[in-house]
Amino acid sequence: MAEELRLYDTMERTVGPVSRSDKKFGIYCCGPTVYNYAHIGNFRTFLAVDLLVRALELAGYDPLFVRNLTDIDDKTIAGSQAAGESLGAFTARWTNIFRSDCKKLGLRKPDVEPRATDHIKEQLELIGKLMAQGMAYGRNGSVYFRIGAWPAYGRLSRLSERELRAGDGEESEKENTGDFVLWKATKESDGSVSYASPWGPGRPGWHIECSAMALRYLGTNFAIHCGGVDLCFPHHENEIAQTEAATGETMAQRWFHVAHLSVGGEKMSKSLGNLYTLNDIERMPFSPADLRYALLSGHYRQPLSFTVDSLRSAAVALGRIREYVRALLGRAGKMPPMAEKFEILAAFWEALLDDLNAPKALGEIFLHIKRSKIDAMGPAAAGRELAEWRRLYYAFGLPWSDPKNEEITPTEEILALAQKRQSARTEKNFVQSDQLRDELAARGWRVEDGADGYRLHPIERP
Ligand code: AMP
Ligand code: ZN
Repeated sequence: MAEELRLYDTMERTVGPVSRSDKKFGIYCCGPTVYNYAHIGNFRTFLAVDLLVRALELAGYDPLFVRNLTDIDDKTIAGSQAAGESLGAFTARWTNIFRSDCKKLGLRKPDVEPRATDHIKEQLELIGKLMAQGMAYGRNGSVYFRIGAWPAYGRLSRLSERELRAGDGEESEKENTGDFVLWKATKESDGSVSYASPWGPGRPGWHIECSAMALRYLGTNFAIHCGGVDLCFPHHENEIAQTEAATGETMAQRWFHVAHLSVGGEKMSKSLGNLYTLNDIERMPFSPADLRYALLSGHYRQPLSFTVDSLRSAAVALGRIREYVRALLGRAGKMPPMAEKFEILAAFWEALLDDLNAPKALGEIFLHIKRSKIDAMGPAAAGRELAEWRRLYYAFGLPWSDPKNEEITPTEEILALAQKRQSARTEKNFVQSDQLRDELAARGWRVEDGADGYRLHPIERP
């Protein structure tokens, strides 16, 4: 039976059922600006969206997940100039770093990860449509959206008219301070970053990039648009105005916004010295899984205050979960495939289906662990429960290595250790070879010696 996810929608300000569609279930998330390390606040948003996509998958929706890369804006241009690199080389470098962080954190890969600079043509087409409809106007080579021509402006953020007047672009050029830039005429400080357009050389404004990429891959009226809460205004408001004014159709059926992460109650910022990256967390040292757990353990709509203590608690909580699951594995004897639904752990799943209530879901897990009579369980019962834990691990994106279901290959480092152990054995240095065997085991690898050499097998470790 298909299950229903209930979710808060920023547009309607209510929690309601997420309806299915016969086509792919389109999700767009505003991605990172690739000019520096993403910080743990950015990852709070990306992890909450990851939990959303995983819950949708498990509930039987068929998501098509698009998360873009913002690779052209003031920050990427200034960064590339300071580094003496081309914009493309500079943003490719930071994109790789971002992807490697995402991989460590167990973020599901987006199905499409479009770059803004690969979609200039689509952006120009959209601006052309807005110009043709009188929704936009040109000034000195730049183009602005005329919010006075779009009466629905402000529906998402529900801000008063005075508050809606956020400035961008050259103020003096605009008809109205609330108008926002679609195309920026090339300035000297842009260096060589410049694209031809019907309005003269320039580069896109940030908002039009997302409208064009979402339209290209998901069309209009797609299922969910996501981002951090700070994007609600003006970014998402402007995306809606551009897309809906140009197409006459609704941009997205619902809006999903993640509340901000602060550090010890203070806004995270470089100048306060309280901005953490994944590298900083690993140096503490905590694992990416500890960070994932700490960031997901608050409700996504509540602001979360990050502390090192929250990482300690996460590590302890994860340790308890792993200990329990390993005990189940010990009872079950072997690793079963992932369960097809939740029955024993239904309370966890119900909490997640209810507007992704992760704190409640985790509370249910520990209640279950506390009540569970694991010593009285036979292999079949333990196996059934273990199969559901696999599903739970997937929902929560926790690392689960299982040689039967995933292809796991040893890293260069593991191979080097195994080779060193082999040499120690050949030299009959058994003390060292045993030490190296234990080190490999601690890293999840068992060595099997045979007549034709040795083989490495991953050890099952939930
Ligand atoms: P950016 O790379 O600045 O465009 O941001 C990427 C995403 O991170 C956006 O969805 C932002 O809304 C989100 N974000 C930025 N700062 C925070 C924060 N402190 N807490 C949660 N999300 C954030
Ligand atoms: Zn966006």
